[in-house]
Formats: sequence, C-alpha cells, structure tokens
Amino acid sequence: MADKRPRILMIYTGGTIGMKENPVTKALEPFDFNHLLDNVPKLKMLDFEIGHHQFKTPIDSSDMNPKHWGQIVRVIHDNYNDYDGFVVLHGTDTMAYTASALSFMLQDLTKPVIITGSQLPIGEVRTDGEENLITALQIAAAQDPDGRQTVREVAILFENYLWRGNRSTKRSADNFNAFHSNNYPELAKIGLGITFNRDALWRTKAVDMPLEVHYDMDTNVTFLDLFPGIPETVVRSVLNTPNLKGLVLKTFGAGNGPGEKWFREAIKDAVDRGVVIINITQCANGEVDPYRYMSGLELAKTGVIPGHDLTSEAAITKLMYLLGRNMKIEDVKHYMQCDLCGEMS
Ligand code: ASP
Repeated sequence: MADKRPRILMIYTGGTIGMKENPVTKALEPFDFNHLLDNVPKLKMLDFEIGHHQFKTPIDSSDMNPKHWGQIVRVIHDNYNDYDGFVVLHGTDTMAYTASALSFMLQDLTKPVIITGSQLPIGEVRTDGEENLITALQIAAAQDPDGRQTVREVAILFENYLWRGNRSTKRSADNFNAFHSNNYPELAKIGLGITFNRDALWRTKAVDMPLEVHYDMDTNVTFLDLFPGIPETVVRSVLNTPNLKGLVLKTFGAGNGPGEKWFREAIKDAVDRGVVIINITQCANGEVDPYRYMSGLELAKTGVIPGHDLTSEAAITKLMYLLGRNMKIEDVKHYMQCDLCGEMS
C-alpha cells in the first residue's frame, strides 16, 4: 500500500535554531543539521515522512542574499512534486526579507512553505526552537477536508502565530513572539491547538496554475529613510548611486515628505532618469495615501509611486523581483501597485 503519511521537506539554512556556542569565543555559530536532529528526538513521534536538505555551509541570516534565496527556490522547485509541504529553517534577522522574496520568486505556489527559526538554540535546555520546528511541520502537513494543503503560500511560524510571509516584520530581538504583521491578520493562532484563520489564508482566485519560479533579483535598489533636516547632499548621493534602478522611499505618516524645492527636484530628476521610486510609510501600521496631504500629493506629482501598505521587506524584494524580470519601467511601476501574492491590501 502506498505510504499516505504527510511528506515534508525541511530545508536548513542556518540561524540561531541550529547554532552552538563556540567554546573559545562564547559567540553563537551555525552548526550542522545532524546536531539539530539529535536535539529533537520528538520528531520521530510525528508520523511524517521527513526529508531534509541543508545549505553546504549553514549561515547566520545576516549573510543571506538573493543567491541563497535562489538556492531555496531551486530545492523547492526540484522537490515540488515529491513533497506535500516545505519547512525552511532560517535565522530570524532577515527572515521577513526571505519570506517576502520567496513569495515573489515562487509564483502560483499551491503548497505550504513555512519558514521558522528560534530565539534560543535548539540544543539549549530552555528553547523555543523545538516547539517552533514541530509546529511548523504540523502546519506544513495540515490538510483541508478535500485533501488539499491548508496553507498554500509562504508563511512565517513563530511562537504563537502564523503570519503571511510578505506581510511580516521582525519586531523583537529577544521576545519569543518575535514577528508581527501590522497590516494583516494572523493566518493561524497557536495555543493548545492550531486554529487557522481561514478567511485570511491565501487562495488563488483563478484555477491553479503550475508553479513558476524566478531566480533573477535585481539588487540595484536601496532604501532612503527620511528624517527632519535630512541634508540635500545625503539625498542626492543616494539618488545618484551608480546603476540605481529602484528606491524605496520611507516617508512620514500617510506618505509625506519635505516641501523644499531641492528635495522635490532631486526626486523628480531621479524619476526622470528612470529610477522607480516607491513611497512607503515609516509608521508601523497604516498605509500611504498620497491624496491626504499637500506634501504627499506634491511627492506623487514628481512621479513617485504609492506603495500603499507594503512592508519595507516586501517593497524592496518586490522591486528586486520586478526589475529582475526585465520588463519596461512603466510595467514595473504598474505591478508595484498591484497585489501579486497577498503582499498588499
Ligand atoms: N543572527 C541570527 C540569524 O539571523 C539570529 C537568529 O536566528 O535569531 O541568523
């Protein structure tokens, strides 16, 4: 008889979850996958078929870059038909960037890609790693009554919540509930049981399409975070960065920026040179509304595109993704304002 157990592939990239203290420096360093398995004997109690893949050299997620995202995408793509779901073990520092990037790189995903990690290494007596790993596996294996996977998107599981990946932000360097989504409800609450918020889960409106993967992320992008008194030299030097193609402008409140002439001119010059500039708010919650204040409207008139309620992580990775697809600038601007995979309300 065919094995009906859920088949989950764990992809270990590194991060605190698998780290160990260096006996000399006392600093935490990535360790290998077997160490991780040794520390969670309970995994054997799950009646799952668990495969695993590990990065040749596990990394601290501060070293994560688009090449690593490409590696994760390739492993998922190569194994897509052989597994029901995927659990990616990842450091927390850049987890929200990876979750956002994967959501764009894995278009038309219909299986769960659950990213998790921990604040304390899995080998320590008190750790959040074991619980996060086991819950992530259970979520990846969860099925609807029709036999389809309940989660069909990239999501972050951390402590008590499952969040949409491209809506998440790391909000605490030391709290076990380290992630949050300020503009979108949780996909599931983890307590005694796992309670899915079914209305919030991603569902494609059209018929399911085959998974389409994209590897090219254009890194000629950057952030510019405004502050009162920002010097013209700073603004101009960022906007004149060689090869700059996209910029995420982090503005005040509902999308407002200084009214000084030099500022508007500098922004307009960059837009006219073909730099795609996206306006997102510095506020943790809420969205850019360019029509609410004159200062926002003036900025919109320079050709800056409203990023609505995109997180910083989703805005920068979406720009990388769209610029990487080699489309016309007008199309990049158009798609930046469209919801591609649940990243924007
Ligand atoms: N520096 C670690 C990392 O991101 C932190 C963590 O995993 O929590 O890899």
